[in-house]
Amino acid sequence: MHRVGSIMLEKILNSDSGDYRGRTLPCKKGHDFEFKEYRDKKLLTVLGPVTVKRAYYFDRVCKKGYCPKDVVLDIVGTSFSPGVRRIMGRVGAYRPFGLGHEDIREMAGICVDPKEIERASHRLGAEVEEFYRKEAKLFLSGKIVPIRVAPTMYVCVDGTGVPVVKAETANRQGKGKDGHAKTREAKLGCVFTQTTLDKKGYPIRDESSTSYVGAIETAEVFGSRIYAEALSRGLEKAQRIVVIGDGAPWIWNIADEQFYGAIQIIDIYHAREHYWSVARAVFGCDKETIKTWTDERRSELNHGKVEQVIEAIKNLLSFTEDGKELLEREIGYFEKNKERMRYNDFRRQGLFIGSGVVEAGCRVVIGQRLKQSGMHWTVRGANNIIALRCCILSNRWEDFWEYRACG
Ligand SMILES: [Zn+2]
Repeated sequence: MHRVGSIMLEKILNSDSGDYRGRTLPCKKGHDFEFKEYRDKKLLTVLGPVTVKRAYYFDRVCKKGYCPKDVVLDIVGTSFSPGVRRIMGRVGAYRPFGLGHEDIREMAGICVDPKEIERASHRLGAEVEEFYRKEAKLFLSGKIVPIRVAPTMYVCVDGTGVPVVKAETANRQGKGKDGHAKTREAKLGCVFTQTTLDKKGYPIRDESSTSYVGAIETAEVFGSRIYAEALSRGLEKAQRIVVIGDGAPWIWNIADEQFYGAIQIIDIYHAREHYWSVARAVFGCDKETIKTWTDERRSELNHGKVEQVIEAIKNLLSFTEDGKELLEREIGYFEKNKERMRYNDFRRQGLFIGSGVVEAGCRVVIGQRLKQSGMHWTVRGANNIIALRCCILSNRWEDFWEYRACG
């Protein structure tokens, strides 16, 4: 049936006799593209291979060839139809490139090379990025406005290391024993909204309201990215904006600059990890003491009594010699972030305080695809695939193809 379909498709695609548009076409720089000849292109479509006849033009000054029909059919510089590329991109976003071709053969009866999936995925990722950039411009200029808005918007930001090839970490300080970095930090943001509370007064995340953006890039560039995303999701109409993150200073710089006036919350799970590392450093293997001590801190933190947590850590200073540095660092952490840890207050306002959402976001968007064993990415390659995954996981994949079809 596919074969029959591809024969019919071929007939339809060639019913325009090659999209001939006259002897010459203008070039952007003022020259002419001259009609040369009709050229055949073998195209792999979802129905199977077809041959497409296209009018071919050439600009002698710019030394560039051009087929108007390729633009119309969205097959410029590729011998795969948009339908096949869509399948390859989706598979490439989820599976290591070396494995996806088997899935495609099994599910769609299309034979493609793993290398081709890789190439198509990277190219689509770059095009997704372009799509986001153009859309961001429209939102920033107010030419389009968000459709769905909710009273409370959460902006969660996190970072995670992506394993990269050696050249990408030259001259960079790392955490490894030899001091060389083996990863680059991908910054990830997710935006979701909340409208209601459950019977017990806990917040409920609006269904399918989560969208993701991310890239390996500077905090400054990422700041604009996450701001544009929030804007497109109804930032200006939201009554409350909440930024959730861990203790990383760049996150709070972004919160101050891009989301001024937002409620800032340290993810409670991260905050807990900090007194836990104190307990482990001081009490070692004494599990019972660790438990009683951390239980007290947990309760204090739940009540937003950060000063008491700080006091408790200070009281331990005299018990440890080698742990002093760590304890002082953690005291500093709680001091600096105490207003972001008034969890009783946040709870009373019916807010999420420890998302798990950001953490889950990083795991899903980055970890599951980019951090598998043996993987080493270039920054550009990683960013392409992150863009692709963010688009799909934010349910924007259809929008992206719509944009490609309609411009
Ligand atoms: Zn020209």
